[in-house]
Order: sequence, then C-alpha cells, then structure tokens
Amino acid sequence: MKNNKVKINPWKSAKKKLKIAARELRMDPNTLNYLNKVERILSVSIPILMDDGTLEIFEGFRCHHSTLRGPAKGGVRYSPNVNIDEIKALAFLMTCKTALLNLPLGGSKGGIRVDPKQLSKKELERLTRRYTAEIINVIGPDLDIPAPDMGTDEQIMAWIFDTYSMQKGHPVPGVCTGKPPEIGGSVGRTGAVGTGMFYVLEEFCRRKNLDIRSMSVAIQGFGKVGKEIAKKLYDSGCKIVAVSDTKGAILDQEGLNIDDVIGCKNSGNPVIEFESRNGEQITNKDLLAMKCDILCPCATENQLYSGNADDVKAQIILEGANSPSTSKADKIFEEKEIWVIPDILANSGGVCISYFEYVQDIQSYSWDLERINREMRTVLLKAFEEVYNLSLERRISLRTAAYMIAGNRLAKAHEWRDLFP
Ligand code: GLU
Repeated sequence: MKNNKVKINPWKSAKKKLKIAARELRMDPNTLNYLNKVERILSVSIPILMDDGTLEIFEGFRCHHSTLRGPAKGGVRYSPNVNIDEIKALAFLMTCKTALLNLPLGGSKGGIRVDPKQLSKKELERLTRRYTAEIINVIGPDLDIPAPDMGTDEQIMAWIFDTYSMQKGHPVPGVCTGKPPEIGGSVGRTGAVGTGMFYVLEEFCRRKNLDIRSMSVAIQGFGKVGKEIAKKLYDSGCKIVAVSDTKGAILDQEGLNIDDVIGCKNSGNPVIEFESRNGEQITNKDLLAMKCDILCPCATENQLYSGNADDVKAQIILEGANSPSTSKADKIFEEKEIWVIPDILANSGGVCISYFEYVQDIQSYSWDLERINREMRTVLLKAFEEVYNLSLERRISLRTAAYMIAGNRLAKAHEWRDLFP
C-alpha cells in the first residue's frame, strides 16, 4: 500500500467535494468562501529527549476547521506523512461528519509527523505529553476535543487527559475521547468505526435487496478500522477474500479465516506472513482491482484516484478510511454504477461514540453497551436515511447527498450566527 505516485493535495481534494455539493445546494458564495477556510491552525515544534540521549524535534499541528455548530471535534494522527494540508482536509471532513450526524460539534484534527512504531513507549509518552502542553490553549471540553486516529490509541488519550488535567489542577475527562473506560472512556468506543460501518452497510443492503452474507469482500488496510470491519463482516458470514497492509496483500478465493489473520497481525506480523491453505500474495494494486462485491478502503487518503478507479470491479465501495477516493475517482464510479458509501457516513461510528463519551463525561453518568449501540444505530440510520432519500430524489451520488445535508446545516448555522463583529 505504498503511497501512489500521483501527488494529490488532500486539502484541494476535500474542497472539491464541498464545491460539488454547494453547486447542487446553490449555496451562497460568501458561505462557501467561509467554509473553504479553516478557522485556525497551530503549528508546533515538539522537542523530545530520545532514550539514547539525543534531542529530536518533531513537527505537530492542531487545526480547527469549524466551531460553527459547537466545540471542534477530531482525532490526533501520528504518521510520517502528516502535513499541514492533510490535517486541514481531515479537520474539514470532521466538520462535515458531525454536521451530517447532526451532533452539536464542529470539526478539527491534529497530528504529529512521526512513525510511532519507531519510538519506545517512554519516548511516545514524552512526545504526547509535550504535544499536549504545546496545544493546551486550543483544546478543552468547550473548545476542541481530541480523539484517536491513525497511529494513536487509548493510551495516548490517557496521557492527553492526564497532562491536561495536571495543568488545570483537577480531572477534566471531557478534554478528549477514546480514553480507557477506567478513566472516563465509554464502553463501545473500541470497535465503534467497524460497528458503524456494519450498520450502514446492512441498511444499504436491505434497501437494495442484497444478502450481506453471500458477499465477497476485499479490505485495503488492516489497522484498527480494517480489522474491525473485517471481523464484523466475517462474523456475519461474508467471505473476506483479500486483505492488505503496508507490506502487501493476501488473497484467498475460498475466504480467509479472519480470526487467524487478526491473530497474526496482533502478534506483530504483516498480513503477508499469514499462511492460508489456498492463499497467495498479491499487490495492493491487484487488491483494489479485484472482482468482489464489496471493497473497503481502510487505509489512507486518495488511494482511489483517476489512475486506478477504472480498474475497480467491486459493486459497493464502503469507505472506512477518511477521504480514500478523489472527486475524479467518484466520477468514474458513478459512470460505472458502483455504489460508494461515503466516508463521512460510513466511518462516522467513531465520532458518534466519541460524542456519547463526551456527553457521559460532562454529565458524570455512564451508559451501558446496549444503550451505546442502540443510540449509535439510531443516529447513523437516521443520517443514512436522509442521505439515501436525497440521493434518490435528486439522482445524485450518496457522497454528494451527504455533503449537501452537512453543507446545508452548516450554511444555516452560519446564517443564524452571522459574522462577528
Ligand atoms: N479519528 C476519528 C475520525 O476520523 C474519530 C474522531 C473523533 O472521535 O473525534 O472520525
């Protein structure tokens, strides 16, 4: 899954999707102009003493795209590819995601340009605590609430919570979400993205009279999201025929035993190390182009672009990653009549449960798993229904419909609040 050769600017690519929806909505050009900018972005240097005594300085960001509809909300990414335009694009996507789900939140994102796998646990802790200290004035329960994203997890959130609380002099659990349950995390947050993807896909298949259990699936990316959706689909009877990670892809037309592939991955090996009786190694390019019912891109941005979209043979693309397809790819998918269940709907289970965690933290009242899953299903299926109906009514893609609904809510919020001063 090496970065494709074509250089696609993620921020320009994100704005193109809004532009398409704004045209359909006949959005006021002043509003579009407003939404085309991020509210603020903080760039920080994070000096860390490495275990060998050398000083290394990492680059970090925190960006608020919008606080129009409430405090900003979005993850923190640790990856060697983090850059300012990627963070802006991902913050913008969060604004659209929270607006689509009609959560009283805005959109943000943060990140550090680092490969977390190269750091010891102590180095990672120092990096996280110093990053938190550097961005402390732009985060908080009323301002901006970080969460896990690629390369970060509940341990990182625990350190953010602790650093912030130490500075404030009292525990502030609402400062971030995706924390361990013992310190204000919510049940159901781990696995939330996969659960949400499954609910949305199940509903889509119900509307289209498709039997989810008879479907074959290829999954690009076998990190948190890829593993979660693989497990959900495998348990529901789907045949997972191919999976990939950064080292390569594996194919088994008879269906991979996903519990075993997850076991292989969790013990630190790439998926190509997995021995499947009928399996073979393929390239990431082959995986994206393989004949299957569902393709789940669960890796990074812009993996499906003008150069490979035409090769896709899947009937449904269920986007687990943020922004895995460019607008040009979208156009090709529309021509080929491939259904794309867009990221801001498909992978929104994460931010949905993050919101529930935030609500529980500020109310000091915990919900049980049954309530979490029931309420998430309600929120996601309501958004799905709106998107699906609008796409039928206007004969537009699910993506454009999703952006129209989000864009309309943002435009209305902007109209009510108007400009200060
Ligand atoms: N990083 C996740 C996303 O991209 C979750 C964000 C959150 O929970 O705030 O949706």
